[in-house]
Amino acid sequence: MARNVWVARLSILLLGGVLIATTSRPCQRFLRALDVRLASDQILFGDESPFQDLSTTVSGELLQTTLINQTPANPFQNPLNDDDLTHKVQKGTTVASLWASLRGAPKAAGEFAKAFMQHDKKVGALKAGELLEVKRRDGEIVEVRRQLSFGDTMVVEGNSDDGYSSRIERARLEQRERKVSGTIHSSLVSSANAQDIPYSVIDDFVDLFGERVEFNKDLQPGDTFTIVFEEKVTDGGEIVDVGVIKSASLRIRGQMFAVVRDVQKDGTARYFNEKGQIPTKGFLRYPVQYTRISSMFSKARFHPVLKVKRPHHGVDFSAPVGTPVRSVGEGTVVFAGYSPSAGNMVRIAHGQRYTTEYMHLSKISKGLRKGSHVDRGMVIGAVGSTGLSSGPHLHYGLFDKGKYIDPMRAKIASDPGPAKAPPAVMAALDAMRREHDAVALASEPASRKSKA
Ligand SMILES: [Zn+2]
Repeated sequence: MARNVWVARLSILLLGGVLIATTSRPCQRFLRALDVRLASDQILFGDESPFQDLSTTVSGELLQTTLINQTPANPFQNPLNDDDLTHKVQKGTTVASLWASLRGAPKAAGEFAKAFMQHDKKVGALKAGELLEVKRRDGEIVEVRRQLSFGDTMVVEGNSDDGYSSRIERARLEQRERKVSGTIHSSLVSSANAQDIPYSVIDDFVDLFGERVEFNKDLQPGDTFTIVFEEKVTDGGEIVDVGVIKSASLRIRGQMFAVVRDVQKDGTARYFNEKGQIPTKGFLRYPVQYTRISSMFSKARFHPVLKVKRPHHGVDFSAPVGTPVRSVGEGTVVFAGYSPSAGNMVRIAHGQRYTTEYMHLSKISKGLRKGSHVDRGMVIGAVGSTGLSSGPHLHYGLFDKGKYIDPMRAKIASDPGPAKAPPAVMAALDAMRREHDAVALASEPASRKSKA
């Protein structure tokens, strides 16, 4: 084993030498040793995609809505008429060229530009593809409206005699809690689509349960789940922001897993598990957000570059180039750099026992180097296809005292302490248990129900 580690370290320094070493027996042994640490990968799509085997029936309800951000929206200063138009911003458009193409009065160009760009620091400069609403009266531009994020609007108004000014209209938003629950027939991701559950909520849900549940293998048809999360909605019904998960639960073959968020007096929040304990933090199950993973597999395969079939000491997550890669746990970077086989690679030591590595990155996060401290969930780079790789993917490996272990199965969290949940959390947990029973009962076939 010590020899493997030594070989692996050396291999980082060796360049194409690995490729030549395919014929003689000692060389093959050498190669096998390298395979442990420097796998290069073929991406397979198909059966093992997490998007293909699971879909769900879900039901949703709104728990409560709170009106926030009460500034009333300004009504249009001018009613619509025939001179109004929607203008699509072209690539390379500046405010000056915009004014010219809208046939604005030349003498007011400077003033319009100043008003238009007043909020640039906060809202950013014009981008290609943006739609602007332009109102014109008697040949003059009197109002330009630009949609911003979170439902806000920037309004520039005036005329060439009086000049132009701008302001930002805050959207009237409601903060509400939405609850979704359902039975899994086939996937979490397809249910997210069916119920308008934002992907970020699914990602958070997976991260909250990831230490205890392997989503691709553990979930079975008939399992049930609930999620309560916050969202902000414009009065037009558009969801503009998604907040935290307040509570969530998952019942797998009769066993309930749950989290309930509790905000303490000082404003800090913590999650309790189904036993009313605060779980200790283990590793994130997925170094890439779950909904970004487009394929996943492991075991032996045909090597596309080295042409050798071999066991594969890592899990490959196929995901688009640029997808953020996260450190699964707190630790210290022991390697961050380029290797011909692994491409851009980061290796992190998590205490004395565990090491993780992330390969083929398109880039390593700025400032990350040997000795850097990383937190759980911190972005360390982005998915790429550098090194020996046949397509964009992340090769992720987990090692226990230098020995490879399956990251999808490993249990790293230690036992949580005794239950200390406040009564409200315990009550929420009881309610969830009852609800799962009701959901499970409702989705059972009629014959079984009548027996009960
Ligand atoms: Zn791999």
